Amino acid sequence: MIVAEKIDEIRKFCSDAKRERKTIGFVPTMGYLHKGHTSLMEIARPKCDILVVSIFVNPTQFGPNEDFERYPRNKERDLKICEEVGVDAVFMPNVKEMYPDGYSTYVNVEGDLTRYLCGASRPGHFRGVSTIVTKLFNIITPDFAVFGEKDAQQLAVVRQLVRDLNFPIEIVSAPIVRDTDGLAMSSRNEYLTPREREIAPAIYKSLLIAKELVEEGERNSDVIISAIRDYLEEAGEFKIDYVQVVNPQTMEPIHQISNKALIAVAAFLGKTRLIDNIMVET
Ligand code: AMP
Repeated sequence: MIVAEKIDEIRKFCSDAKRERKTIGFVPTMGYLHKGHTSLMEIARPKCDILVVSIFVNPTQFGPNEDFERYPRNKERDLKICEEVGVDAVFMPNVKEMYPDGYSTYVNVEGDLTRYLCGASRPGHFRGVSTIVTKLFNIITPDFAVFGEKDAQQLAVVRQLVRDLNFPIEIVSAPIVRDTDGLAMSSRNEYLTPREREIAPAIYKSLLIAKELVEEGERNSDVIISAIRDYLEEAGEFKIDYVQVVNPQTMEPIHQISNKALIAVAAFLGKTRLIDNIMVET
């Protein structure tokens, strides 16, 4: 496994692979790797000759009062995990390498896709995501890239970006990986105090209750949203950012469920913002 900190180095590695007609699979991450990340790598591994993982805590996708500085990092552990999964190359640039002085180009997916959910609560977040994903796609030139359904809106934004900017890259989605108690794996779970960690699975439980309501015939989003809010308020200590029922493709809120819907939750436990979602079908 090679570890490249410079764009030139990973570019050469990828262009050499291409010249040898090898296919490149790509998994972008912000590091502090967990089983959610390794599941993406395991999905990618058998589909490509060369598997590239990037580890970069991207400052442009964090708001001014968010956790960029304290975001957990552990280079040695991450590299060991990549090695074990059979990654061929890790690209881990520093901030200056990706955003040198004078950097001034940003990619913005406009419209409804970025208007609701995290697009509403984290202004500029998807602009940062779209910019870094575009840069990484240009550098790595993968045949396909794998993204997790945990960040469902991000996945939809990346699909749109690839369509709109004509990237010849297949976007593969990967199901949410959860801890045994249902909490969606996240690098940010590291922030949780033992007490917060204990109550955190209530988010997934509230989503399961919502899914059950839909299965029992409930179609009104307001009723479903209230049930989730009530459950989380009962569980205590959650500060709800949003609970929404949206169209899984367009991310627009839907009021009456027909066909498929995505139920998405973002809530703070102390200073930690957790997100989760579930798909429902009528
Ligand atoms: P991050 O390092 O949080 O930016 O995540 C990198 C990639 O891993 C994204 O495509 C995420 O959607 C995905 N991911 C993070 N957590 C999970 C999880 N629990 N299950 C599946 N994919 C995940």
